[in-house]
Amino acid sequence: MCATKSVPGRTLNATIVKTGAKLPQKREKFDPKRDLAPERIKELLKRLAAAYPNAECALHHRNAWELLVATVLSAQCTDARVNMVTPELFRQFPTPNAMAEAPLPAIEELIRSTGFYRNKAKSIKGAAQKIVSDFGGNVPRTMAELLTVPGAARKTASVVLGVAYGLAEGIVVDTHVLRISRRLHLTRETDPKKVEQDLMKIIPRDRWISFSHEVIHHGRQTCIARKPKCAECPLENLCTSADKTWSSH
Ligand code: SF4
Repeated sequence: MCATKSVPGRTLNATIVKTGAKLPQKREKFDPKRDLAPERIKELLKRLAAAYPNAECALHHRNAWELLVATVLSAQCTDARVNMVTPELFRQFPTPNAMAEAPLPAIEELIRSTGFYRNKAKSIKGAAQKIVSDFGGNVPRTMAELLTVPGAARKTASVVLGVAYGLAEGIVVDTHVLRISRRLHLTRETDPKKVEQDLMKIIPRDRWISFSHEVIHHGRQTCIARKPKCAECPLENLCTSADKTWSSH
């Protein structure tokens, strides 16, 4: 989905990393009083912002419609692959009106390499038709309206509202945000909707959009799924995840 520009985080202690001398000492359980303390959340947000100051969406787009389509295409697909496909797609069908009229097989052919192309083509054409018929050809600006558009579930709607319109209506919870929120003990939930509800309670609204971008980048660069690079993580001494591969405390 959306990612960010790379900016180096904390400098490594090369000796410790090289020898691997320090292994996690504490694998603490979730403690709401400690883990959700406002000072801790504030510090986490501060460090994320410092580590990824240019956080932005990696899906190329020129407007809300293109972002909506790109986000639909990004399901089970890399942003890089989506960015290879969308220029020709939008060259041939540049507007919701044009996409609504496009033959389904033509859309399928253009997006085939993104996977699940039949379903995605149906969603894109359906979204275009809905936007033309109900919203005058403009991508709507509210969560309630966007959720009526085919292919736009809550995550997609949050991306479009946040990135294209700068409206913080929700927090994007993708696989990275889900994993890292759990590792940082910001939630105990596993369902993205419930994780989002937990995050919305503790993250100030003016950070909802940037938080997702920063965490997605953190997940791609450092807090990766299989073997997180804890020794170079700017959040390390605030993290007591059982998944840690190295610990300073
Ligand atoms: S310390 Fe490790 S597990 Fe914790 S957030 Fe950083 S990379 Fe992820």
